[in-house]
This record gives sequence, C-alpha cells and structure tokens, in this order.
Amino acid sequence: MIPLNGGDLHIPWQKELARAFTTPEQLLDYLGLDAAPWQPGLAARRLFPMRVPRPFADKMEKGNPRDPLLRQVLPLVEEFAEVPGFVTDPLDEHDSALPGLLHKYRSRVLLVLRGGCAVNCRYCFRRHFPYADNSPGQGGWQPAIDYIAAHPEINEVILSGGDPLMARDEHIAALLDELEGIAHLRRLRIHSRLPVVIPARLTDRLRDRLAQSRLRPVLVLHVNHAHEVDDYLASRLHSWQRAGITLLNQSVLLAGVNDTADALEALSERLFEAGVLPYYLHQLDKVAGAAHFAVSDEHARALISELLSRLPGFLVPRLVREIGGEHSKTPLDLHLEPR
Ligand code: SF4
Repeated sequence: MIPLNGGDLHIPWQKELARAFTTPEQLLDYLGLDAAPWQPGLAARRLFPMRVPRPFADKMEKGNPRDPLLRQVLPLVEEFAEVPGFVTDPLDEHDSALPGLLHKYRSRVLLVLRGGCAVNCRYCFRRHFPYADNSPGQGGWQPAIDYIAAHPEINEVILSGGDPLMARDEHIAALLDELEGIAHLRRLRIHSRLPVVIPARLTDRLRDRLAQSRLRPVLVLHVNHAHEVDDYLASRLHSWQRAGITLLNQSVLLAGVNDTADALEALSERLFEAGVLPYYLHQLDKVAGAAHFAVSDEHARALISELLSRLPGFLVPRLVREIGGEHSKTPLDLHLEPR
C-alpha cells in the first residue's frame, strides 16, 4: 500500500504551488541524492523550467536515483540532443481557431483555460508551446464562448492548458455558468495533472459545482505510474466519483518510467482502486528534447498484448498516437495473433 502523504494536508493548493521546487539541486537534496552525477544535465532547465510541487516529491523514493517519478521531472543532459523527427510543435497546434481555442475535432473544442502547469513534465509535448499567445486570460473567454455558441456541431468542451485546474474555482464556476447557457453542449471535460501532483486541488467546492451542472462532468487525470496515486489522492478521487463525476485516466508510455508490463499492470490496478478507469496509453509525441523517453511501437504493442493476458479488458488502456491534423486519436494496430 502506498503511504498516505500528499504533503501537509492543511496547506491550500495555491500555497503548494508557491513552494514547489524550481531547481534540480533543491529537489535532489530533498531526496538525499548527490547532485554531482547529474551536473551536466541540470542546465537543461534553461530549455524548459523545472517545477515540482512538494506533494509530488513526497511520493518519490528517497535515495533512489532511478525513481520513476523523479525521471519525469528532472532535467537531463539528453534534452540537449537533436534527434531527427523530434520537433518543437509535434501536433501542429500553433494554429488555433481563436487565441485559447483549438477546434481539432468536429464535436469537441479545446479551451486553453490557463497557460502553465503545476508541474513541468520533461516529456511534455507543449514544452515549446507559446502559452502567452494562446491563453485567453482570466475572464477573456467571451470570443471563445461566442464561437462555441455559433457552432451547433460542438457538444463537448474540453478544458485544457497548460493545466486548466490552475484556474481558481470561482473562475471555473463562472465559465461553467456561460457554457451551461449554450443549449447544444452536453459535456464538460477537464484534463488535468494538477491533482496528481497536488491532491488538495480536488476541492469540495469545485466538486460540488461540477456535480450540480447540467453538463455531464468528466475529469481525465494524467497519471503515469502507480506510485503517483497515494492514499490521499485516492480518497479525494473517491469523493469526486461519489458525487457523480466520471473519472478517467490517460498516460504517456515513457521509457524508464512505465515501459514494463508490471508497471502498467500496477498502474491500472491502482487507478481502479481509486475509482478511475484507464482510458488511453499514448505513444510519446515527438517533441524536441524528449527523445530519451521514446518507446518503440513494437515494444508498446508487446506490452499491451501482455496486459490483455493479465487484466480484464476494461483495465487495459487503448494504445494511441496523436497525429497532427488527424480528426481523432489514432489507435495503434496491435497485430495480435491468436495464441
Ligand atoms: S502537466 Fe501536462 S501539459 Fe503540464 S507539463 Fe505536464 S504533461 Fe505538459
């Protein structure tokens, strides 16, 4: 059982944001690790700033340089490698319908509620994304609301970012008031990693506002490893699930983090214990600076094949890849043969 931690439970999530680790030296010292062997790579935080909330650091194993959570956030020398095929905008997202609004899929729009995240994941496909140009800013979403109202084919709004839960509860509630007035909308989906790194972000206030909405609320978490779901996060998720909020998870397949059948099996089991269904397992988006996280398609297929033999089907995530310009995620053909 993963211990109850999640940092000091009495610290509000905004304060946890403010006291996050921002240098590798601080974090390594906190974990009891010598920074010297990492020194050549630590400057990679100039390519993409480092930010690690303490409740996430508390889930790492002290003294373990290979901790799978540490690997996701620690700048490494490999980030400087220029690898063919790895580019700054792998999904070609720089062309949005409006600042802060991406209309990639016919019935769904992505609303960039807030630029920036609570944690900066080194593999992030948006590590080069110009948030400042694409975030509508607090309360500046009226053009996006007008766009959605004028497009009756849209039935779902996906709050994205950055991380949309970086917005305060009252701002999300105010946006919800507006969206609820658009008759053709049916669902509100929130994609967030923030509760994983600061579980206190799952406030009762936000839960209750979402639960009373006429729009069906869905929270899609981004958990990559079973150790990310400690008991405190699980208890918050249970409370959101009991309130009627659908909980799903999507992960990224990451070398050195979750690229074994044991790790993925443990992740699915732990998610289900916490009331969350595994939904997607993404192949890495080929973003510059993250090639060292890539897993071959062949290995990815073998992992899913193994999971199918170990787990019930509803605990096996769909292996997908996002391809810029495509109108949905592209499932990877598993090439399964009868046994
Ligand atoms: S939380 Fe998501 S969007 Fe933010 S840095 Fe991590 S992967 Fe990227």
